[in-house]
Amino acid sequence: MSDPLDGLVDALADALDVSHCSKLADRTVCDVALPVSDLRNRDHHQRILIDSGRSRKGWSRIGRALHCLQLYAYSNVLDLALGSREALLCGTLGHTGQAHLLRRWQEEQNGRDPDVFHEPEEAMEVWCDLHPEGKPYLEVMIGVHRRYMAVWPEPPGEILLVEQEVSMVIGWRQDLSGPRWGLWVVTQESADEVERLEKERADLPIKRAEAAARDEDPNAIPGPVPPTAMQTPSGLVVEVTPLDAPGHRDHGWPIMLTRRIDAVWRERSRRVPIVDHKVTASDTSAGRAAKYAPDGQFASLRLIGAQLWPKDFSHVLLNLINREEPWRMTRHVVPATPWRDAQFAWQIYEIEHRIAQLEVRRVDPWYWPKAQGELSCWGRYGPCHGLDLCALGPSAVRGRDDRD
Ligand code: SF4
Repeated sequence: MSDPLDGLVDALADALDVSHCSKLADRTVCDVALPVSDLRNRDHHQRILIDSGRSRKGWSRIGRALHCLQLYAYSNVLDLALGSREALLCGTLGHTGQAHLLRRWQEEQNGRDPDVFHEPEEAMEVWCDLHPEGKPYLEVMIGVHRRYMAVWPEPPGEILLVEQEVSMVIGWRQDLSGPRWGLWVVTQESADEVERLEKERADLPIKRAEAAARDEDPNAIPGPVPPTAMQTPSGLVVEVTPLDAPGHRDHGWPIMLTRRIDAVWRERSRRVPIVDHKVTASDTSAGRAAKYAPDGQFASLRLIGAQLWPKDFSHVLLNLINREEPWRMTRHVVPATPWRDAQFAWQIYEIEHRIAQLEVRRVDPWYWPKAQGELSCWGRYGPCHGLDLCALGPSAVRGRDDRD
């Protein structure tokens, strides 16, 4: 297998030329057969509620580790609840409203019946019926939606996608011009197969224990074999660069990232941005978009856009929805960062190995590497949610429990 570093060097050489993805094909639209978004719930009226929840292997996990490994350990190893529930629930309700608004517009544009889907406010109500913890925020978020509609009452263009999960894998893509190492969009079928195999792997101890209880040889039940190749939506093959961490449960398995795209539309100018909604209680200025530019969640969207719409993808558009006074609703272009984006696959490869290394060495999760700087531990919204945990250790958890 080729060394990923060779591919990184290529990627760096191309870093200032973001058009390299257009070598894939010369398409004006994404003609890839992407599956319909998750449509998991139907209410008794048989209207569809679109799932705008988190994706399977989403950015938040890896983004947290890149920010601070100790924060990752609190959340993903110790499973401690971090963060503001209010922000999370308002964000989910805002995304639910946007998803139904845009999907209904998309249905109308395509001459189909929009009433198959809930209306936005109705969708928020149904979501709260399914998740009662959202009810305290329902009224305010319905008000936010009405304010949004007063500012942006029309479809912004031709709606191409709404709430679409997209999976990517690290590896060598076999292009016409030769193999390229990076993070590549793969088909939903490829991603589903990995998920199926991972589930089979998780179920293996139970199956073997059941075999042993029947006096059969448990080791006669083979474990699943991870895939070594996956397919892109345009039919190219990606030779997987798996996790190389002997002793870790994921050793030899693909390194994947999944993003749920909020929306994609085609503007009158024919440009195709990927749109990311952010429900916010704070800054809605263009400066906010500039601050998001280095954030990996936007780098991954830029990579997806360049691969799925190689000719027309233009930028990531931040759709800021203010949930407090002055109720500003603004849209801003997130500045491109081609040098960073070209290294993005490598950054993910590295941090996944760092996490695996700490887990294989069984480092006490309270002793994982801590950011040591004022600006890491105090951010735009105030102190990091792990500040008291880092200051006081496990006793801070007992203090939190006592307060609850
Ligand atoms: S307070 Fe600082 S060191 Fe502790 S988890 Fe947060 S960012 Fe990491």
